[in-house]
Amino acid sequence: MLLLGAFSATAQRAARIHRNAILVDGHNDVTSASIVQGRDITQPQPDRHTDLPRWKKGGLDVQFFSVFTGPVAHNPKGVYADANDQIDSLEALIRRHPQQILLAKSSKEIRRGLKEKKLVALIGVEGGHMIENDLNKLDALQKRGMRYLTLTWNNSHSWATSAMDETLHADTLKHKGLTGFGRSLVRKLNELGVLVDLSHTGEQTFYDAIATSTRPVILSHSSVYQLCPVFRNVKDDQIKAVAKNGGVICINFYSGFISKKFDERLASLNATVEQRFTDSVSKQTGDPQQARKQWQTYQQQEMEKVRPTVSDVVDHIDYIVKMVGDDFVGIGADFDGIGSVPVGLEDVSAYPHITAELLKRGYSKKSIRKILGGNVLRVIRASF
Ligand SMILES: [Zn+2]
Repeated sequence: MLLLGAFSATAQRAARIHRNAILVDGHNDVTSASIVQGRDITQPQPDRHTDLPRWKKGGLDVQFFSVFTGPVAHNPKGVYADANDQIDSLEALIRRHPQQILLAKSSKEIRRGLKEKKLVALIGVEGGHMIENDLNKLDALQKRGMRYLTLTWNNSHSWATSAMDETLHADTLKHKGLTGFGRSLVRKLNELGVLVDLSHTGEQTFYDAIATSTRPVILSHSSVYQLCPVFRNVKDDQIKAVAKNGGVICINFYSGFISKKFDERLASLNATVEQRFTDSVSKQTGDPQQARKQWQTYQQQEMEKVRPTVSDVVDHIDYIVKMVGDDFVGIGADFDGIGSVPVGLEDVSAYPHITAELLKRGYSKKSIRKILGGNVLRVIRASF
């Protein structure tokens, strides 16, 4: 009984620290996954990671809503129109629920939203291609609330190269890193008070941008390369450079960015097993579609066996803290943008498990508060 008592005291302490902390998430794709489709996320969306009731359960206070479109536009007018369509849909949602969500454009508005106990929404535009090389469009998105611009998504464009291309398609690149226009754009972002987001960017773009930016940068959803060596994660020297810049790295929860084992298993399944499996099933049934379905079920079962855990995610936080201290790491889960989440972090109600794990590892309340949101808020205050 003594043990049970001790356990529940720890659990209560974790719950209390979590409740009292300001929790900020650097990246969520609910806008492109749900809101732009007209879904009302103030109501439960059980087939997605995100809705307001679960956000509340998870203790979330401030969320960067990602405005995201790939290189191919949905709107016939192009990717800039896509960005505006998504912001329209987010604004419409907030207009319908002004008591529950507030779109903030300044630190002062963030404070007001927190005081009024609303979910504070911030806009992050994911992919520099969406400004279509036009500084007027950059200005217009800033006026609509864009508070970070991710310089690239997986696609490179005329003024910046992505992590994917610098790593996997280096021979096809005409330039590497930021062009002169790219550097002037970073300075413009600094002037406008828009955070420079370096998730998804190639290393050259990262170093060019961090050398140009006069303000702290954000990596809105990236994890640690040393623990999971994939092109999207950040290397030790990058972590040190972010610390020197006073910026913040928000840890991405995607299983394939957290666990090397998961990433390798997925790659090996994709590379070899899929074809063999598809061949064998279609030989037996003569039905490739059926084979595809069976393959997907098999793949899911296999990947389930190697899904990482909350502890694996906290290893990434811990790695950065041990290297540069507790001022430069935060949370950028990427919910509704990722295909696999760790065990115990199934949706936006699960953030308290991070706090419990940090506490279990001996983190102080002060450190936990920085990691959950304080560090991102510090970076925000330095810009807007
Ligand atoms: Zn992303």
